[in-house]
Amino acid sequence: MLELRPGCECCDRDLPADSDEARVCSFECTFCRTCAETVLGGRCPNCGGELQPRPRRGADKLAKYPASTQRVLKPQGCSGF
Ligand SMILES: [Zn+2]
Ligand SMILES: [Zn+2]
Repeated sequence: MLELRPGCECCDRDLPADSDEARVCSFECTFCRTCAETVLGGRCPNCGGELQPRPRRGADKLAKYPASTQRVLKPQGCSGF
């Protein structure tokens, strides 16, 4: 099951489970669309994998399978990657 992390690893912008702005790699490193398409160029800075739109989880499923609340953030940000 996808973790559905709550924010972008680069800019800490909120990415709720129903957001269509979230991008993930196969390891669930999570970024916003802006960072994924600009500074990252569509590649995960952690593993080099491709970033894809994260599937959304509906409210009925979220009640049973809640999204992660564990915020993952790169302290140095993604600039310079
Ligand atoms: Zn971002
Ligand atoms: Zn990754």
